[in-house]
Amino acid sequence: MVNINGQNIIIVGGNVAGPSAAAKAKRTNPSSNVILFEEDIFISTASCQLPYLLSGEIEQHDDLILYSAESFLNEKNVIVKNNTIIKEINRRKREIYYLDKENDCQKIQKYDKLILCTGSTSKKIGLITGNLKNVFYLKTFKSFLSINNYLKTNYVKNISIIGAGYIGLEVAEALNKRNYSVNLLEKRDFPLSEFDETASKIVLEQLAEKGISFYSNIENFHFDIEENCIKNLRISNQESLHTDLILIAIGIEPNNILATSSKLEIGKSGGLKVDKKMCTSDTRIFAAGDNVEITNFITNKPDYFPFASIAHDCGHVAGANAAGNNLSFTSVVKNVSLKLFDNCIVKVGLNQNEIMMYGYNFKMHDAVEYNKSKNFNDRKLCYAKIFYQRENYKILGASFIGGDEVVGMGNLISFMIKNNIGANKLTNINFSYTPKLSSMINMLEILGRKILQN
Ligand SMILES: Cc1cc2nc3c(=O)[nH]c(=O)nc-3n(C[C@H](O)[C@H](O)[C@H](O)COP(=O)(O)OP(=O)(O)OC[C@H]3O[C@@H](n4cnc5c(N)ncnc54)[C@H](O)[C@@H]3O)c2cc1C
Repeated sequence: MVNINGQNIIIVGGNVAGPSAAAKAKRTNPSSNVILFEEDIFISTASCQLPYLLSGEIEQHDDLILYSAESFLNEKNVIVKNNTIIKEINRRKREIYYLDKENDCQKIQKYDKLILCTGSTSKKIGLITGNLKNVFYLKTFKSFLSINNYLKTNYVKNISIIGAGYIGLEVAEALNKRNYSVNLLEKRDFPLSEFDETASKIVLEQLAEKGISFYSNIENFHFDIEENCIKNLRISNQESLHTDLILIAIGIEPNNILATSSKLEIGKSGGLKVDKKMCTSDTRIFAAGDNVEITNFITNKPDYFPFASIAHDCGHVAGANAAGNNLSFTSVVKNVSLKLFDNCIVKVGLNQNEIMMYGYNFKMHDAVEYNKSKNFNDRKLCYAKIFYQRENYKILGASFIGGDEVVGMGNLISFMIKNNIGANKLTNINFSYTPKLSSMINMLEILGRKILQN
């Protein structure tokens, strides 16, 4: 029974975890004063859809703004102070000090419970410093507006994207669809190297097919600056890429400036340490989202999972508990999917390199099958791979490439991992079959049979 009246629950950060925490805190304890602070003007933006705004598949910019300060107050009964930056936390006095950007003045807010949802920031390239006009990151709605504005107001033909992880690839596809000439530069051998080798190779073929130039093993490059813009990327002694716009997508890192300066405990990943209740090393301060580290279900070790689905879920738990409830956020199976052109790519759990790094005694099986019956022209070849522990069939990881149906396969494997259902049980599923949507023998069934034969 929750009985904490009139307390101030303050949330810092208003994108995914923050609004989720704020709304849940208010629902849990309607008599509390819940206030959400956000540095940006926008709150609650659908960041994951930014690449589709860039490609033009989503036409209206406003479609990505899920709530305004006003609608969040009306619908969730939470006060929003956007355009404010929290500068400092005084844990002894239980106060935060913030800059009201609109009125350019410093203010103080008292808290009973504080929830830090400060998220993440894009990793920067040390070499590229200063305020270069044609260098961008796609992280926030505002960053999208800057890119779009530059594309509209400048002559841009050649674009270099640095980093071929999932965001780099989604952006490459988006700009390719808008007929820009796209170069994709990656420091490793393959794109999407955190996924599966087969996925990387299929992506590589697809990039070539679409006319996106891929440059591997680009560890260092030099560049020329003209009129505060990077014009040429010199990637080797012989090769130089003329560039009108550069987009850096080399990953993200937890944004814990506030947590660090207020001496909250930070983990090895740089993420804020929280317990199952999403409580930090200070019992009055909770945290959720891209700024925290959470436990990997398979390894049982702290890990960093910067995904919206997780930010939303752990925000919900942090909000409930800050308002007096007692929910737990359990460990997580990393389950990532992306759609690249017409391929859907899924990675669940650990990849082969990680499995080997942790020293598991493992077995692997793979399968290739069409996703529809023979008479449908749009059928696609799908690929699946599963890794499990030799001694007990515990699933360590899986990857899928194919049509949209592979997302469901990934979710099923994630469920099996989380519920300790072994890979030898894959043939225990009664799969449905309808010719237009599935093959007669489901790919998971094929994997299951292979596992039982060995
Ligand atoms: C292009 C792109 C595509 C993505 N695609 C997917 C996807 O397909 N699936 C998926 O699950 N995830 C995806 N993600 C990741 C997902 O967007 C993040 O995991 C999610 O946004 C994390 O939410 P968050 O609230 O924890 O952090 P953030 O989104 O980083 O938000 C933190 C907020 O805190 C504010 N803030 C920080 N410090 C302060 C301060 N001192 N004072 C006031 N405000 C502050 C920031 O302004 C920011 O708005 C994608 C991300 C990007 C950029």
